[in-house]
Amino acid sequence: MKKLSHFLSVILVLGIIAVELSACGSQKILSRQNVLANDRASRTIVWGVKADTKLFGLMDVKNNTIEGFDTDIATAITKKILGKGGKAKFIQVTSQTRIPLLKNGNIDAIIATMTITPERKKQVDFSNSYFDAGQSLLVKKGSSIKSVNDLNKPNTKVIGVTGSNSVANINKYASKARVLELSDYAQALTGLKSGQGVALTTDNGILYGMASKNSDYKVVGGTFTKEPYGIAINKGQVSFKKAVNQALKEIEDDGTYNCILKKWFRNVAGFNYKEASR
Ligand code: GLU
Repeated sequence: MKKLSHFLSVILVLGIIAVELSACGSQKILSRQNVLANDRASRTIVWGVKADTKLFGLMDVKNNTIEGFDTDIATAITKKILGKGGKAKFIQVTSQTRIPLLKNGNIDAIIATMTITPERKKQVDFSNSYFDAGQSLLVKKGSSIKSVNDLNKPNTKVIGVTGSNSVANINKYASKARVLELSDYAQALTGLKSGQGVALTTDNGILYGMASKNSDYKVVGGTFTKEPYGIAINKGQVSFKKAVNQALKEIEDDGTYNCILKKWFRNVAGFNYKEASR
């Protein structure tokens, strides 16, 4: 009896080791895959995009499509890389889920208001920058908060989104303030409206999008950081990154970029789309 139970436990341990080995194996295969070759074969690029961010990537529930500057740039890049018949497939990400989804191979690239930072460069590669944003503040009209300095007081609560670098920036520029982290920009705006914080902080473009639909709120204080947006790609995908940079250059050169910029930002009060043209 004793021998039998020993035998069974050995079998069980071996089984667990086998499962673990095969899981490790598939992870390795994933990172070794050539994304560009796969995308050419499937004629599809899978992009991680925001669905909670007006102007950049927002879900239109009526048509069940995600629309914005980021998704249009992704589509234009896809057509350059794969030809006119190429398909851009969009998967919803948040500031927090985007890097894990890329690293797990669920998406080929992230185009989601994502700043190129030295910390993130340790985990992923970035394309050349495709948009210049800067961090700012959204407050209720009539608020006494006029700039980031006004937040630098104890008991001042600022709303930010988990996974965004805006949260860390507040700790740097207004270290006395407390940051309330919410999981996406829809929740962050609801939090501001219900008075959970005196300001919402993230990039100016995102805040302009919110202000355009909420006339009681305004963007204040100019920008206090530089946030160059990049397309994130898994490390080691050299040919894919090269193709993305090449496509980006082509859409800048042939006017497609400026067309898309104009489409989304021409009527945004406070945003100088001509200055942002390339
Ligand atoms: N650009 C900033 C970031 O990459 C804020 C916008 C966002 O949360 O995506 O974290």
